[in-house]
Amino acid sequence: MIYKRSSALFAEASAVIPGGVNSPVRAFKAVGGEPIFVKEAKGAYLYDEDGNRLIDYIASWGPMILGHAYEPVISAVVEKAKKGTSFGIPTEIETQIARLAVSMVPNIDKIRFVNSGTEACMSAVRLARGFTKREKIIKFAGCYHGHSDAFLIQAGSGAVTFGSPNSPGVTQGTAKDTLLARYNDLENVEQIVKANKDEIAAIIIEPVAGNMGCILPADGFLEGLRSICDREGILLIFDEVMTGFRMARGGAQELLNINADIVTFGKVIGGGLPVGAFAARDEIMNYLAPVGPVYQAGTLSGNPLAMAAGLAMLTTLNDQPEIFSNLEEKTAYLHEGIEKVLSNTTLDYQINRLGSMISVHFTDTPVVDFETAAKGNNDTFKKFFHGMLAEGIYLPPSAFESWFLNDALSYADLDKTIEAIEKTVKKL
Ligand code: PMP
Repeated sequence: MIYKRSSALFAEASAVIPGGVNSPVRAFKAVGGEPIFVKEAKGAYLYDEDGNRLIDYIASWGPMILGHAYEPVISAVVEKAKKGTSFGIPTEIETQIARLAVSMVPNIDKIRFVNSGTEACMSAVRLARGFTKREKIIKFAGCYHGHSDAFLIQAGSGAVTFGSPNSPGVTQGTAKDTLLARYNDLENVEQIVKANKDEIAAIIIEPVAGNMGCILPADGFLEGLRSICDREGILLIFDEVMTGFRMARGGAQELLNINADIVTFGKVIGGGLPVGAFAARDEIMNYLAPVGPVYQAGTLSGNPLAMAAGLAMLTTLNDQPEIFSNLEEKTAYLHEGIEKVLSNTTLDYQINRLGSMISVHFTDTPVVDFETAAKGNNDTFKKFFHGMLAEGIYLPPSAFESWFLNDALSYADLDKTIEAIEKTVKKL
C-alpha cells in the first residue's frame, strides 16, 4: 500500500501539533512507522488520504459500534446542527437521552453528561470522595481511566505504550492518594484496604480491562470487590467507558451481573461525538451541585449535537438488542479463526475475549493482569501490526489496547481478516 499523502500530512501536522497527533497512541510510536491519515469512513471501512481501504478494528477506540457514518446518527446530528450548536441553557434532548440511559443500565437513577471519559472518571472519583468523606482511591495497574492526574499512576493504554505509566507533572501529593492494586488479585486488594482502614473512598476498575489488551475479570474477582466495598463502606466505581452499551444494553454490570455504585461512560454513549457520563443511585447523585455540595460543571456538557448523536445511537441499541448477540457471534467467529491460524504456528500467543472486545498477546503465559500483559513480545506485535496493515486491516497500533468489533463487519470481512492473519504470521 502507498502512504505518500499520509506521510506528507504527518510531516505537516508534526510542525504544529506535538508529535503530529492530538492523542499519543495515534502516532504509531509503539509499533514504529508513521500513522495513516483518514479521509473518511463508512460502515466497517476506513478510507485513507492515499485512497487505501482498510477494515477497521478500532472503531474510534470503541464508539462506532454500529460502524462508521451510521445513518440515523448522522442525520440526527445534521438536523440538530441547523438549530444551533450550543446554548448553555437546558434542552429537552438531555432529558430524553438521560431517561433512556437510566432505563438501559442497571442500578442507576440519575446520570450526568460530560465531554469525555476522562471527565467522567475524574468527576466520579470526586463524587465518591465527597460522598464518603474519604480521600484515597484504589486503582489497578494497567487500567486506564483517562489522563486526569489521579489516574496516571501505573496507567495502561498510551501511558504504558510510551513507557511513562507515571507521568511527570503529577504531583506526589496527588499520587499518594492513589493506591495501586493488581488486577484479578483480591488478596492484594484486601491487604491495601486493611492498611488504609476507613480511608478509601472508592475502588475504580475496568470491569473488563481493555487498556492492557483485553483482560477478563477472573471468576469471583468482581464479586469479591463488591463484598469488600460493602463491608468497608467503599464505593465501587465501574469504568464502563469501553464496556458501556457494548457488552450488553446495560454494559458489564448486566453481562456480569454485578452492581457498581458509580458507573462511568464514554465512547458508545456519544455515538462518536465527544461525550462522557457518570451515573449512580439517587443518594449518591444528589451529592452533586446544584443539589449537593460536590462541584462539577461544563460549558459544553449536554451539548445538543452530542446528545443527538448519543440518543440516536442508544435508541438503536435499545430497540435492537440482537445487535449485541450478533456482535458476540462475529467476535467468537474471529476468535476461532485466529485460534486456528495461530495454533498451526510455533508462536506463543494468548487470545483474550469477552463480547466484542478481543486481543492477541504474543506470550506463553495466560494474560490476567498488567505484569503478564507486559510479557508479550512487542517485536512480534510490531511485525504483526504492520503485516496486517499491509493486508488492509487496521488494528490498534499497540499491544496494550483491545480490538473493538463493529456490527457493520460482514463475515466476508472477518474471513478476509483471518486470511490476512494467516499470510502475516507466515512471515513472522
Ligand atoms: N476509561 C477507559 C476505560 C478508557 O478506555 C478511556 C479511553 N480510552 C478513558 C477512560 C478516557 O476516555 P477519554 O479518552 O474519552 O477521555
